[in-house]
Amino acid sequence: MNVANLLTRAGRSSAERPAIAVGADQYATYGTLANRVASLAHALGRRVGLAPGARVALLMKNCPAYVEVLFACWHGGFIAVPVNAKLAPPEFDFILGHAGARVCFVTTDLAEVVAKLKPGLDNLAAIVCVDDAEYATLFSGDTMPAASREPGDTAWLFYTSGTTGRPKGAMLSHRNLLAMTLSYFADVDQIAADDCILHPAPMSHGSGMYILPHVAAAAKQVIPASGGFDPGEIFDLISVHRGAAFFAAPTMVHRLVDFGGAGAADTGNLKTIVYGGGPMYVEDCKRAMALFGNKLAQIYGQGESPMTITALSKARHAETDHPRYDARLASVGVPHSVVEVAVADAEDNPLPPGETGEILVRGDAVMAGYWRNPKATNETLRGGWLHTGDMGVFDGDGFLTLKDRSKDLIISGGSNIYPREVEEVLLRHSAVAEVSVVGLRDREWGEIVVAFVVGKEGEKIETGDLDALCTRELARFKRPKQYRFIDALPKNNYGKVLKTELRLHFAKPEDERS
Ligand code: AMP
Repeated sequence: MNVANLLTRAGRSSAERPAIAVGADQYATYGTLANRVASLAHALGRRVGLAPGARVALLMKNCPAYVEVLFACWHGGFIAVPVNAKLAPPEFDFILGHAGARVCFVTTDLAEVVAKLKPGLDNLAAIVCVDDAEYATLFSGDTMPAASREPGDTAWLFYTSGTTGRPKGAMLSHRNLLAMTLSYFADVDQIAADDCILHPAPMSHGSGMYILPHVAAAAKQVIPASGGFDPGEIFDLISVHRGAAFFAAPTMVHRLVDFGGAGAADTGNLKTIVYGGGPMYVEDCKRAMALFGNKLAQIYGQGESPMTITALSKARHAETDHPRYDARLASVGVPHSVVEVAVADAEDNPLPPGETGEILVRGDAVMAGYWRNPKATNETLRGGWLHTGDMGVFDGDGFLTLKDRSKDLIISGGSNIYPREVEEVLLRHSAVAEVSVVGLRDREWGEIVVAFVVGKEGEKIETGDLDALCTRELARFKRPKQYRFIDALPKNNYGKVLKTELRLHFAKPEDERS
């Protein structure tokens, strides 16, 4: 079982179909792509000397070579290690060293920084820049058939984003990736061969996973010429590519909705926006649906069970008459077909609907463990279940709602307060752009609720109005006791809010706080 066979199949059965476009221009058909991948895999084995199981790092911004290198790794039986190009050099250094990468593929913008790290990386034998002539020479030799792989063999080392601590490398096997691919069709969206997937989000992370179901369907991968996310460019791409889907973190969805030309843009070609990776607030979801129509689907997953914990389909988004519509929009949907999802107490006992606990997952999409980290593996996979670290609650219909990560829970005067609930309410204020709620240590209460608020440009927010809103909508004990107005929320390279940094803010002396 080798996930690369999806491309071999598409290369044969859909040889003439477009496989990759950059901006509006075609880069390769499926026939060409499959052939290039088979020769690159051959070159990596024969010329570079990689043995099956060798790790190959991809430290590139989004580009067509990303798809080639990723599939060449699998085709040759190697392990792909996609690394987020936005990380800092010490983080690159850690991941390349920890994975023991033998080869690192880079784009020009990252070539220098990796070259500087190389002397300290004993395993790293070669750096290949995909924009240089050397890359082209790797396609000049023979091709090879896809290497034979066991279902449990690792295909992708997915380094977690980690809002705290060192990243860990989730070992995703060929079976995991195939289960994830099939689950996309079963639970998220259908893909026709003349549809396409745009890649404005990093391929090292969220967007990269979407390559697979689209290769399985022989649909086109569209890489923005900028290699990243630019709202204007996305609207342009939608105007030229039919049946377009893409993955967007909630912050990207906001930026699209707020984009000046959004209202006038022709989004007829847009098929689906899959959002996830962080909380999407109900108000924001409704605003996006008002602009794009019923084209939103949600996925809840994590590197350890990629794209595959729960999904809220487009059909569910369209059920506006349902009596619990808002609650469902605030949920992350129902479990994917390829996994079992449970909510459990601190001793891993399953909890009934209505009770909040840690979300556990098991099934074919769940990683085998963390690379070279048996301690974290045993802890996270204890009892055969993936412990997500996310807190959640099932309703009676099987819809799961996230209640923040356990460490984000605020306990004030003995009562549990889920920051998300308070954030949802504050976002209803028309001048609030973003908000994040954390607990601050307090002698009397244990913790008190503090809201960090980012206002919309040029708009004024009165604390009294926010307080009145919370008084109306929330139990008294959940109301923020303090509001802090800041210019921007601290976020990591994946757009996740760093609550730890917000909390650190309080540790600083008053005059150093920004
Ligand atoms: P990562 O492994 O970097 O993809 O991060 C996964 C984490 O992002 C999950 O454990 C959740 O805390 C969060 N997350 C992912 N999808 C969603 C979603 N749809 N809604 C809210 N949080 C999400």
